[in-house]
Order: sequence, then structure tokens, then C-alpha cells
Amino acid sequence: MQESEQGEKRYRQPLVSVLGHVDSGKTTLLDYIRKTRVAAREPGSITQHVGASEIPTDVIYSICEPVMKALNLKFEIKTGGLLFIDLPGHEVFSNLRRRGGSVADIAILVIDINGGVQPQTVESINILRERRVPFVIALNKIDTIYGWKSEDGRPFILAEREQPPSVIAELEKRLYRVVDQLAALEIYADRYDRVKDFTKTFAIIPTSAVTGEGIPDLLTMLIGLVQRYMLDRLEVTTNEGRGTILEVKQQHGLGTVITAIIYDGILRKDDTIVLAGLNGPVVTKVKALLIPEPLQEMRATKKFRRVDEVSAAAGVMISAPRLDDVLAGSPLYVVRDMSKLEDVKRDVQEEVDRIIIKTDRIGVIVKADTLGTLEALIAQLEKEGIPIRRADIGDVSKTDVFEASVIKSKEERYAAILAFNVKVTEDAKREAQSRRIPIFQEVVIYRLIEDFENYLEELKRKEEERVLSIAVFPAEILVLPDFVFRRSDPAIVGVEVLRGRIRPGYPLINENGKRVGTILDIQYEGNRILEATAGQRVAISIKGGVVGRNVKEGKKLYTEVSEFEDEKARSIYFSKMDEDEKELYRRILWIRYSRGGSSA
Ligand code: GDP
Repeated sequence: MQESEQGEKRYRQPLVSVLGHVDSGKTTLLDYIRKTRVAAREPGSITQHVGASEIPTDVIYSICEPVMKALNLKFEIKTGGLLFIDLPGHEVFSNLRRRGGSVADIAILVIDINGGVQPQTVESINILRERRVPFVIALNKIDTIYGWKSEDGRPFILAEREQPPSVIAELEKRLYRVVDQLAALEIYADRYDRVKDFTKTFAIIPTSAVTGEGIPDLLTMLIGLVQRYMLDRLEVTTNEGRGTILEVKQQHGLGTVITAIIYDGILRKDDTIVLAGLNGPVVTKVKALLIPEPLQEMRATKKFRRVDEVSAAAGVMISAPRLDDVLAGSPLYVVRDMSKLEDVKRDVQEEVDRIIIKTDRIGVIVKADTLGTLEALIAQLEKEGIPIRRADIGDVSKTDVFEASVIKSKEERYAAILAFNVKVTEDAKREAQSRRIPIFQEVVIYRLIEDFENYLEELKRKEEERVLSIAVFPAEILVLPDFVFRRSDPAIVGVEVLRGRIRPGYPLINENGKRVGTILDIQYEGNRILEATAGQRVAISIKGGVVGRNVKEGKKLYTEVSEFEDEKARSIYFSKMDEDEKELYRRILWIRYSRGGSSA
């Protein structure tokens, strides 16, 4: 336990992540929040971060005061300010992973008040649920409501009072439309100032990322929820820094560096750290810790300065040897007591092994660029009921194609590769082409899954078409006396379809189970038709039929029904029959096998 000099517990700033559908206003919202911070403070007095922006406590107090006053709220901020992850969206969020959850303490789900709940809103909710991250909802773009009177940066709770009744009515209508859409996903939400119990109801804060209206309310909710429900989680429990890797990248003059979010303890220059790598745990020593120069994010060029240590929560760039193999989404553990090194290495490897899938099951091959996106992708696929044979990090290789082609003979539809934000090697491309293994490539998780699901649908449709084009459905027909138009080559007779349906091309058997011939044509009132059903009287020509020998007036004929060995074809075939047809099917098989062979 890390305690300050007074012996009090130390709490770190909560980490806030922003998610939502494309174009809902995530980037604009983050930009507005960052500007607030810059405007309200002397630039030099803020701790700078890599990949995150800190809104210090005093800024929060001054912005939130009018809201707290209007709502009669009082609380003391014990955690320090809010640390916003700079890049919005689920891909970054995925890499904020931490065993069994997320490094993000709370999230803002942005919903466009005009668009409502959209596909990526649902996906965001799924990911937030799966990682068990609480969230508030910013119902954004309120300034687009016709007649809305804007005033920069005003709390929503005060702005609302200035709006004409028609605007309020429209706002309420759109708000409760979103409430209904969320309820359908079992997310029970209400406008934040109407929520009685925040453990049961999600808070919706109407905002405009452009005018900043509602942002004081949003910050008040975030900090209020954190103070009330999340203090335990924010307690700094160790000295040895712990973090997660957001990015592995090239930095001019430094080579490969990593950016990390430190959520517990302290990270120092020269510390030994353990990370997850493509080929097992990476043990290395921190050469330099870099944070941005004050206000650098407002400038075009990035300048960094070296520091000796950072303590949680912090976003930092790390320069060290042997970082090339490190995986984004990997844990970072500082080891100061070297006797524990092997244990930590084992922990890190276990964490990777928990995510990567290597089985001999029938299922798809999954490749992703980082541990975080792989984990998120696997969770989504499992939710959709798509089985996985292998799931691993890295480009799509020839080996992956071989793996997929093993499945092809067993369950063709799963002989496919799903690749998220990775390349396909030339070898693999060639091999996939010659073995006809489809590779799905995407940079948006939900689209990757959607593409694959569409492909499965298409395969199903094609298979159905194929089965139906060769299927012979059951029919019982009566050869009508005195309606013989031609005795043979081909025989043409009048029949009544008693049960089922007949089509040209259907083979016929007689009551003794003997093959009679094949229907060539069906005519109804002088016209050729492609199908005759129960109750219809038609003329049919039968290739191979000879009236008086195998086709007898007043006797019945049956179609020689299909017998599909393949289970899938059989189930498609039966799905197209009603109960009577199924009963007739069984009867025809009985006729065929119990009587077949006796003379006609
Ligand atoms: P993101 O894809 O979720 O990051 O969305 P952006 O922040 O890029 O916003 C998409 C578009 O919506 C941009 O043209 C923004 O200017 C606009 N926008 C975002 N928030 C608001 C808002 O509150 N009001 C209005 N009028 N436009 C907004």
C-alpha cells in the first residue's frame, strides 16, 4: 500500500475513454474538453501526458460549480483531475486492456441526437459491458435542434431554461426515442438530472461538442460518479509501476518506442520492465521516459522532454532496447526485486495465452494486430456464435491458409480467414487464391464481422438454390381413366395431383415401387407449366412410360423422392415441406424399399 507522508491513502486520477458511432462527435468533444483545460490554466502548471490529457481538479471545480449549485450537489474531489484518453473509439479502447477488464475507469458513450443508436453504438456498449466499464451517455449535437439558442460553454441545466417550449418538446422527443432504443438493449437510462439511483440507471447528458453546452454537466457527472462509486479502484496499491501498452511505434531519433498508460505505482528511468511480445515475454530496461513539452498538443510539431519518473495515472513514451516485438495491448510490469522476475514473466505469458486460441476445432482463423483488438474480436465472434479454430497476432501467412484449408473438407463455410488491421503476405495471397480460401480484411471490427456474416448468408442462399434445383419433392398422382393421349415414346396421360407437387424432370415410380420414367412436360389447359400441385388436373408426358404396361389407368404414381445424405442439404429439403408432404415422403420411401423389385 502506497501512503503519503500523512499516512493517508493515495488515489490516482480516473482514466476516461470516449466511444461511440462514427461521426457522433467524439473527436470534437475531446477537442473541446482539451481546449477548456488550456484556456483555464497557466500552460506550465499542468502535467503533460502522452496519449492522454489531464483536466486538473481546480479546472473541474471552476467549470462544474454552476452545475453543482443548480443541482444542489456537494463533493470534494479526492482523486485529482480527470485523465482523458486522447484517441476515441474502440480500437484504442481495446488496447486499454487489463486482465479481466480495462484500464479505463469510466467511459463516455457519445450518441448523436439526430442519429440515435447506431451499429457502432451497439458495439461500443457490447465492449463496455464485456470489459465491465461503467459509462455515461453524451447525447450530442443538441445545438442542431431547430430554434436552439446557443451560448458557449453553458451548463445544459441552465441552457435548458432559456429555450422556447417548441425546442424543449423536440429535445424531449429525441431524448426519449434514444431512451427507448437503449432500453431495447437492456440499458436503462434517463436524463442525468432525473436519475434517482445511478447504480441502476445510466445518466444521459445532453451536450454540444461544438458550443460546449452540457460539457460542465458531463464533467460533473464523471467526477461525481467516480467520487461516489469508484474510489477503491483508484487507490494506488504498489510502488512497482503497472501499465498497459497503447502503441508500439517508430520515433525519430529513438527507434522503436512504446506509449503506455500507467495505472498503478511508479515507473522510473532504468527500471526493469516485463512486456508481452510476439515471441514470448520481453524483459528490458527503461532508457528514457518522455512526456510532451507543455502545450505540445496545440502545436504542429511534437517535442518531448525526458523525466526521471512518472506515477499513476500517467501517459508516457518509453524508449528501451528490444521493443520491436512488443504487442499493443500488452501489460507492463516493473520488477525491482529480481527474485520475482520469473514469476512476472510467467504472469505476462499466461495473460497472452489466455487470449490466443490454438485448437483443432472446426472454425475460422482470426488474425489481429494487437492483443487488445484480438481479444475484442474474439469476444464479438463468440457472441455471434461463430466458432474459432485459431486466433493469433500478426500478418496472415501461408500457414494460416493451410490451417483454413484443413477445415474446407469438413465445414466449407468456416474455411475462412478474418484479418483485422494486418497485412496478407504475398505467399499467403497466392495460396489462398489457389485453395479458394476467402480472406476478410477490415480496420473496423463490426464491419469485419458483418462482412463475414454476409458471406455466410450468401453461401447459405447458394446452397439452398443448389439443393432446390436438384430436389424431387413427394407427390401422389392418379392416372385418370380415359385420358390417354399417347401410349408411349413418350406416354401422355391426364392425371390428378392428389398430394404434393410435380415438376418437369421428376422421376416417377408406380404403386409397386418400380421406376416408370421421368416427367418431361406438364400441361394445364393447353399451356406448359412448371409445377402442378394438389387438386390440379393436368396432362403429363412421361419419358419411358408405356400405358398399359407400367402406367395404368385408374392407378397411382409417385415421385421418386430425393434422399440427401448430406445433413445440411437434407435439412434445407425438409424445411420446404409441410407436414402432409413429410408424411407422404415417408410413405414413398416405404413403397420404394418394401415393394421395389417386385414386378410391375
Ligand atoms: P467522430 O467520428 O465521432 O470523432 O465525430 P467528429 O468529432 O469528427 O464529428 C463529426 C462531425 O460532426 C464534424 O463535422 C463535427 O464538426 C460535427 N459535430 C460534432 N459534434 C457536434 C455538435 O455537438 N454539434 C454540431 N452542430 N456538430 C457537431
